[in-house]
Amino acid sequence: MTQIPDVTLNNGISIPQLGFGTFQIEPENTREAVRTALEIGYRHIDTAEMYGNEKEVGQAVRDSGLPRGEVFVTSKLNNGFHARDDALTAFDRTLADLDIDYVDLFLIHWPLPTVSDYVETWKAVEEMGRSGRTRAVGVSNFTRAHLERVLAETDTVPAVNQIEVNPYLAQDEVRAFCNAHGITIEAYSPIAQGKVLDDPVITAIAERVERSPAQVTLRWHVQRGDIVFPKSVTRARIEENSRLFDFELSPDDMAAITALDRGERTGFDPDTFSWIPG
Ligand code: NDP
Repeated sequence: MTQIPDVTLNNGISIPQLGFGTFQIEPENTREAVRTALEIGYRHIDTAEMYGNEKEVGQAVRDSGLPRGEVFVTSKLNNGFHARDDALTAFDRTLADLDIDYVDLFLIHWPLPTVSDYVETWKAVEEMGRSGRTRAVGVSNFTRAHLERVLAETDTVPAVNQIEVNPYLAQDEVRAFCNAHGITIEAYSPIAQGKVLDDPVITAIAERVERSPAQVTLRWHVQRGDIVFPKSVTRARIEENSRLFDFELSPDDMAAITALDRGERTGFDPDTFSWIPG
């Protein structure tokens, strides 16, 4: 694997621009998948209490034998624990399940604007940041309106906003807002869970530059400056997705992919998503 560049967050810490996603990896497959990613050279793992695989992620990080400081670990606050005390307990639980002393980044997974007050939850996350048990704090699935409230009503600018971004959902407005306020974008579902890989614009570019459609799509993200963490349980794909830093897309190819935007989500709408674990 060629060297993965780092991105510097607004509190000065570095995060590898390419990571490994673990959504929809069953617990029994997680240890192997994460171990494979670390073996191949990934040094950034994205998990969440909601994924039900934090224990296995932590196990795989330990299995790798890498010093803790060499692997960037992100987890997220599950829905249903947005009240301050519940949030602090959920954070303790994440650290216990991962069985590590600190995470590198901790995020509010969903804003849940219809069921709770994400500003109050953000204040609890600020406390976690001050505890030193997470090196950075951020949010996920926050729209511009949600971020405007957080910026107006609290003291900490989120280090990242993890949102769905892919060629069918370019997210220009919220990306521009975040860029203007020093909030780094993490682009989740970067290949739209596979949906964009048959797009004729992407397959034509892939053929011409002699790369796979997944590599072309992930490279598009990287050149836009976003952080990505594609998920795969397939060793060959985990390897393929890591080879992004030894080729470049032309401005015309970048523009052609950006023009595919049709505002189409793969996941849920953050303004209405209100699922709480039972
Ligand atoms: P991705 O866009 O990463 O797509 C994953 C799917 O694409 C899997 O079915 C995988 O199959 C397939 N795939 C992966 N690589 C290739 C390839 N090279 N060629 C063909 N198919 C491929 O989707 P995710 O939704 O998993 O997003 C990535 C990560 O983002 C998540 O794992 C999670 O960490 C994060 N995320 C965060 C959310 C949030 O609310 N904050 C929501 C959703 C995701 P297979 O595994 O069978 O190989």
